[in-house]
Amino acid sequence: MSGEFNLIEKYFVGRQTPRSDVVLAAGDDCALVSAPVGSLIAISTDTLVAGTHFLSSANPAWVAHKALASNISDLAAMGATPAWVSFALTMPEVDEAWLAPFCDSFFALADQYGIQLIGGDTTKGPLSLTLTVQGLIPHGKALQRSGAKPGDGVYVTGWLGDSQAGLDVVLEPAHLTKPHADELQKRHYLSTPRIQVGEALRGIASAAIDISDGVISDLGHILKRSGVGAQLQVEQLPLSPQLLAFVGSEQQAQQYALSSGEEYELCFTVPENQQQAMWHALSNIDCLVTRIGSINDSGELTLTQQGQQLAWQLHGYDHFKTN
Ligand code: ADP
Ligand code: MG
Repeated sequence: MSGEFNLIEKYFVGRQTPRSDVVLAAGDDCALVSAPVGSLIAISTDTLVAGTHFLSSANPAWVAHKALASNISDLAAMGATPAWVSFALTMPEVDEAWLAPFCDSFFALADQYGIQLIGGDTTKGPLSLTLTVQGLIPHGKALQRSGAKPGDGVYVTGWLGDSQAGLDVVLEPAHLTKPHADELQKRHYLSTPRIQVGEALRGIASAAIDISDGVISDLGHILKRSGVGAQLQVEQLPLSPQLLAFVGSEQQAQQYALSSGEEYELCFTVPENQQQAMWHALSNIDCLVTRIGSINDSGELTLTQQGQQLAWQLHGYDHFKTN
């Protein structure tokens, strides 16, 4: 991209207080970092493409938040502490009116989570953002998807369903007249990665994942990898007052909660004998945590309401329908 070096210097270099473990940041052929002895490095990459994951007309500050928050959420789901991020940006042309608010928002969130931009790439083409985040976890403490056992409780952070309602507003401006439409739209773009919760669950949770495709679908990954089933009690799903007012019925809100993607909340499982330790570890963290069901050995995911099994079909994010 012409003017690439000026652009990188102007917008991406020297924007943050350097971390002490970053030996060399952007400017050379590679970044150099040093990981503490006894830690593993957790690494995750995600791409957001304009038109697929966000509209190119979307507020650039919100797009930056969504791109970085969704990546940091993967670290949270592993129980990792954020450390470094690399950023590959592809843009049709240099658009400073877009880049300035984008970068302000990107670095505000990065600073909030102590994550330093250490390098990247800048190219010309259709608008897309690829981030690789890296975090640190003490050896043996990573929260994987494979450890859930029958009898474990199933928990989620935050409210579920708001992101889907926000996406309705993004895709269909007619929804803007519904209650809390603005707030729900923000919930879709401006999620809060649950890093503190992930860190607190080290050595306590048996499995964890972040909700990017809907809790049904993402819990399904835990069940498959752990070789277990689960029962979810839909009356336990945490529904925000805003979602209830927006969709207008409790059943509709429950269905949103089950299938809403891009929530970036955590879904995790905890053995019975760790429940007390869990509530203790979470007691100083300002985050709603709700038990929504239990792991069993059925190999399947079932839904109940007041003890009665529901016949809702469980297709997840894209195709969720009722009978
Ligand atoms: P190379 O030709 O070696 O790939 P580049 O010209 O792509 O180097 O990048 C020069 C330096 O600027 C590198 O250190 C790279 O990490 C950094 N950089 C490029 N784009 C970005 C970006 N979007 N964000 C942060 N650093 C960047
Ligand atoms: Mg390059």
